Amino acid sequence: MDNEENKTAGKIESLVIFKCNCRCVMCSTGLQIDRSLNNDSYQSIRPYKDIIKDIDKAVKMGAKGFAFSGGEATLRKDLPLLIRYARISGLDHIEVQSNGKMYVYEAYCRKLIKAGANNFVISFHSCQENIQDKIMGVPGTYKQAVQGMKNLNKLGQKLKINIVLTKFNYDHLEKTVKFLLGFDIAEIRFTMCMLEGNAAINPRAIVAKMSLVAPEIIKSIKTINNRFGSYIYNMVPCLLPGCEKYINDMGQMDTILIGPDFEASLDEERKGKKIKIPECKECIYDKKCYGVWKKYAKVFGLDEIKPIKK
Ligand code: SF4
Repeated sequence: MDNEENKTAGKIESLVIFKCNCRCVMCSTGLQIDRSLNNDSYQSIRPYKDIIKDIDKAVKMGAKGFAFSGGEATLRKDLPLLIRYARISGLDHIEVQSNGKMYVYEAYCRKLIKAGANNFVISFHSCQENIQDKIMGVPGTYKQAVQGMKNLNKLGQKLKINIVLTKFNYDHLEKTVKFLLGFDIAEIRFTMCMLEGNAAINPRAIVAKMSLVAPEIIKSIKTINNRFGSYIYNMVPCLLPGCEKYINDMGQMDTILIGPDFEASLDEERKGKKIKIPECKECIYDKKCYGVWKKYAKVFGLDEIKPIKK
């Protein structure tokens, strides 16, 4: 066995395309997507054989799952074929990450399900149509995603919802969660907006401070009341009393992210790109917590961090 085969990962997340039918205000790959407009180069749609290699790698590494990500994965015409390949390769968890627009077509949902997709992760940030469409940058996205979620539920698929928390939606997060309770949900991911891509251009206009977002996440997780899974991304435990166990950064299996010209362990990324304060040494979470993203700290400082002592 070579070193590669010895490694294990929870999941391989493959960035299969840098094209999108949305223009999210906080898109982390927004710059690549802008570059890919009217351009079908290697960088904007990765070759089929490269994605096959990513799937083979996931199998070799004993990964539990494979995620098709982007950009907007459903814009790849060969997505059903790639899903089929992942399925016959023996991967159990086959995830498609999407803005949900294409799921407005029930026949398309059927096609992906038939090919073997069994984890549908949809970006849905607000129950308010005008806010959702503003965040996603394209009118009509809310209506298409809502119909898409109904279609997937009708076809027996539970939904995994990714809510990216920004200045525009954190204040009515609980309302959005209550709206989502009307669907068949497998999990909700509460993702604090990172200062990457479009959000990094003018972070103060997009990103809300963690100390404002955290209480809304706590309220929402209480509302969910363990009906299904809740996961929190890009947050620190000292801001989430009572909800620390939902933070995905701590103790989760690693995800390997693969793009056209890079491969990164999200675990290693976190370790290198986060920062703590000297007082963190006294915090009960010091060993498990990597701290705050450095880019966030550069804009908003570190005064929100409050070590939890025994
Ligand atoms: S180690 Fe530091 S950043 Fe992490 S929870 Fe404790 S005080 Fe917060």
